[in-house]
Amino acid sequence: MNYLSTRGHPDRKRFCEILLEGLAPDGGLYLPEHYPQIDTATLARWRELPYAELAFEILSLYIDDIPPADLKAICAKTYTAEVFGSDEIVPLRELEDGVYLEALSNGPTLAFKDMAMQLLGNLFEYELARRGAELNILGATSGDTGSAAEYAMRGKKGVRVFMTSPDGRMSPFQQAQMFSLQDQNIHNIAISGVFDDCQDIVKAVSNDLGFKRKYRIGTVNSINWARLLAQVVYYFAGYFQATASNDKPVSFTVPSGNFGNVCAGHVARMMGLPIQTLVVATNENDVLDEFFRTGIYRVRAAADTHETSSPSMDISKASNFERFVFDLVGRDAGKLRSLFVDELGRHGRFDLSADPAFGQAAERFGFKSSRSTHADRLATIRDTDRRFATLVDPHTADGLKAAREHLAPGVPMVVLETALPIKFAATLVEALGHEPARPARFEGIEALPKRVVKLPADAEAVKAYIAQNCD
Ligand SMILES: *Cc1c(COP(=O)(O)O)cnc(C)c1O
Repeated sequence: MNYLSTRGHPDRKRFCEILLEGLAPDGGLYLPEHYPQIDTATLARWRELPYAELAFEILSLYIDDIPPADLKAICAKTYTAEVFGSDEIVPLRELEDGVYLEALSNGPTLAFKDMAMQLLGNLFEYELARRGAELNILGATSGDTGSAAEYAMRGKKGVRVFMTSPDGRMSPFQQAQMFSLQDQNIHNIAISGVFDDCQDIVKAVSNDLGFKRKYRIGTVNSINWARLLAQVVYYFAGYFQATASNDKPVSFTVPSGNFGNVCAGHVARMMGLPIQTLVVATNENDVLDEFFRTGIYRVRAAADTHETSSPSMDISKASNFERFVFDLVGRDAGKLRSLFVDELGRHGRFDLSADPAFGQAAERFGFKSSRSTHADRLATIRDTDRRFATLVDPHTADGLKAAREHLAPGVPMVVLETALPIKFAATLVEALGHEPARPARFEGIEALPKRVVKLPADAEAVKAYIAQNCD
């Protein structure tokens, strides 16, 4: 399988070449040259497989530069009941007639990002050892991504993590999750500033090409194709659990921010998995809902990006969206470039409302959307607790609310559970008046010794810290 750039760069690359890269050289995102098609016989065979073997089958279609036995071992090592809490890995439960929750949040950091990041950690370790190379991952986090990356990379050979976060702005639980890690290859850097300052520092360091090369700086951000690919697997696993045979359609609702999770659903659907509808659920930061309703994609300024109670969906633009738009415009790289470089780059928006391609988003690609507010979130959390004795986190609540607006008779609706409620305890307390239960392994983590350095919001200070800790 070869990979191309959405913006038309002539080079084609193999999987392991793009594994450790971010954007393509022309600023585009990598996508496979085609989506492998799954026939009914294959689907029937896959239905019987345990999760790690299903992952191996799907990954094999996209990765042909890792020997199959090695890839199989990497999948087996990643998706274990020990790490993800059950043999199903992503167990499905019916909440009410036809509405299901697929649990993606029972990994080490209690959010769905573990599903992809745990695999990425093992792929990185494998590929770096094969090359005899090292990588220093520099990131910025306001919570979920940073902790998932740290738990995936802890103790891995050849990898160090330098994770910046805004000092004092993460929830106490999230801080404790990250700062209690004592592994020598994990470095927590609390920046006196806000999340945007952290992101600016990461950008400034990455733009210093000399420094970047000398210290082999890399990232694990959500545009990484390997992360997206890992997420394709649980759409298949969810489908098999929600149906008894492979002729039945299923719909999914996906709490969305950077469009990584739901883009994996799009890939699964393009491969031929019988997905009827993909519902994109947003919060008040409704860039995506606006697009699917109107055909206008309008990125927001920092000042217009709301801080909400589903903070992992607080985005101003959706960094994976370009992948879907590439398919939407018939994989026309010239058209894609004019939308993302000319229109978006110059005017901060593009308008497909009058373009026949926009009609395809719903009709051909199955996309629908909904938007939620803080009040909706609280109401959904209360209602789910009262009627089903089930606690959901604020992001999953956004999903449930959206799902109910797009139910179709006879078609199971699977809502992806993207985090456990304990990660966002303050909102649960606001809704219910009490704290959600905490898994035993996280009992008392706030009291553990913390491994963190505090630095000013200054890229030079961060560079000096990296240089000091790189040998
Ligand atoms: C990251 C995250 C999301 C958004 O996922 P995308 O892939 O960025 O769309 C939703 N919910 C939770 C809990 C997250 O951590």
